[in-house]
Amino acid sequence: MSSKKILIVEDESIIAEDISDSLISLGYKITAIVYSGEEAIESAKEFRPDLVLMDVNLQGEIDGITAAEEIRSHFQIPVVYLTAYADENTLRRVNTTKPFGYIVKPFEEKNLHTTIQLALHRHQHDCLTNLPNRSLLRELLSQVLDKHKKMPAMIPVMTLSLDKINRINSTLGHDIGDCVLCKIADRLSNCTENINIVARLEAAEFAIVLEPVAKKQDAAKIAQKILDIVAQPMIVKGTELYVTASVGISLSPGDGSSGDELLKNACTAMYNSQEKGGNKYQFYTAKAANISLNKFVQENCLRNALKRSEFEVYYEPQIEIKTGKIIGAEALVRWNHPERGRVSPGEFIPMAEEMGLIAPLGEWVLETACRQTKAWQTEGLPPLRVAVNVSARQFERKNLTERVSEILKETNLDPKYLELELTEGLILQDEAAAIRAFKVWKDMGIRIAIDDFGTGYSSLSYPKRFAFDALKIDKSFIRDIADDCQNAAITIAIIQMAHSMKMTVIAEGVENQRELAFLCSHDCDEIQGYFFSQALPKAEFEALLKSDKCWDL
Ligand code: C2E
Ligand code: MG
Ligand code: MG
Repeated sequence: MSSKKILIVEDESIIAEDISDSLISLGYKITAIVYSGEEAIESAKEFRPDLVLMDVNLQGEIDGITAAEEIRSHFQIPVVYLTAYADENTLRRVNTTKPFGYIVKPFEEKNLHTTIQLALHRHQHDCLTNLPNRSLLRELLSQVLDKHKKMPAMIPVMTLSLDKINRINSTLGHDIGDCVLCKIADRLSNCTENINIVARLEAAEFAIVLEPVAKKQDAAKIAQKILDIVAQPMIVKGTELYVTASVGISLSPGDGSSGDELLKNACTAMYNSQEKGGNKYQFYTAKAANISLNKFVQENCLRNALKRSEFEVYYEPQIEIKTGKIIGAEALVRWNHPERGRVSPGEFIPMAEEMGLIAPLGEWVLETACRQTKAWQTEGLPPLRVAVNVSARQFERKNLTERVSEILKETNLDPKYLELELTEGLILQDEAAAIRAFKVWKDMGIRIAIDDFGTGYSSLSYPKRFAFDALKIDKSFIRDIADDCQNAAITIAIIQMAHSMKMTVIAEGVENQRELAFLCSHDCDEIQGYFFSQALPKAEFEALLKSDKCWDL
């Protein structure tokens, strides 16, 4: 192992020289001895030592604690403090800089050595699993790559991430989550003799460097073996748990010449296997990297879109068959992308869900739609009901009901004019939570509609158990309904069932006269679709409302 480099910051030169001599005799290298906080920061930047020994009381503008904080936060170099005496306030400041050690002068050489060893260990090991962390991994990996530089064999570098670990944390608690991580760390460290290094990168991500292999297939076999070992059941505090992992593999030298590049490419491949559903390994390919870069760019744009006001709510009219008049509108969000123009929600809603952005976006849509609907009412237009889509991920958030209630108050919209559209998948995800929320919403006076009805899982059992106000028949059933007898039969059955339970039926995606005629003759209550109008921007929808258009059905 190469000797570690230490920077000494001490304004008394005799003490500094003394420490330097004793560290050299212990096998360390001294990058420099400096006397002030300013010089310490400069030296840390220039020489990147492995550790800084820092006198707390320095003369000059920048004292030891301020310098240590700069060095830790900018260069991630661990700092061990040296001090002769410190008052309470100084000690408190010392603690806030998360020091790796604290030595009181005068000290014995032995203590100095132990403190430095501990600090270096702590700095390079993950404190939960005690595996090497990213910093040590880098060092070890570059040694391995150096050693095998001239050999024809390939070195496989893997990254592994546990699938759905957040589920475990949120349902069983972080204690159990931590135990799972430790068990996995143990399994990885002991699972096969082909493993050279195992390190923990972050939360539920590990890196594994294998012994050199002759062919790609050898790495694939080991990857599968690792996946199998991870997937074996484990008992944590009396609970039997199953976890799976996604693995990405890059091969040196083909997929990168440096350790960082190999790790980055392994991660790209890992994200790829996560996207394919997990419990898989995937080799790095340049093509996949391209896709993932694109996705990254997209995600960044989406993250900024709310701030930049790039979203817009469109309104799709809902027509009552009995009167031929508009009685409601479905609020549908659009993204006005600065380069790509209008992007459809089918593309960015799943991305927003995955990125955790659906909650702020959903709230924004809800608030915009409620405020607008109230404004139309205030203007004297006939009162209109507005339907807002709620996605499953949004529903998972604990404070959704609270936010809905706040928004109704803020916008002053009577709750009876708000309809929330939910999908069957959302109910399936947590039935008990769904029942609780529906009850509160109903008590508030909000309407509940089931969207895309018929495309979910246990479609026919749900309306029986939950008191919905409306069923929206999915557009896939409406397609060619006049000629497709199967679609026709399903639609008729849904309408009858809904009516027997006193629910309104809305057919969505009505595109032509024949579909419309069929629905009218089978007693459907409301319709929406391109036959009447696409979703329209606010001003155009308002014009349509003001024209008081009445369809002859
Ligand atoms: P959805 O709620 O089922 O909305 C109906 C979709 O069908 C809309 O697509 C609408 O423009 C489209 N559509 C309406 N009439 C016709 C028709 O006659 N023929 C055909 N082929 N399509 C028709 P859009 O706006 O692209 O929305 C797609 C989905 O995105 C929505 O499906 C909804 O699940 C989701 N979505 C839209 N806005 C929001 C939102 O604000 N929040 C959430 N969570 N999801 C949203
Ligand atoms: Mg909808
Ligand atoms: Mg729908």
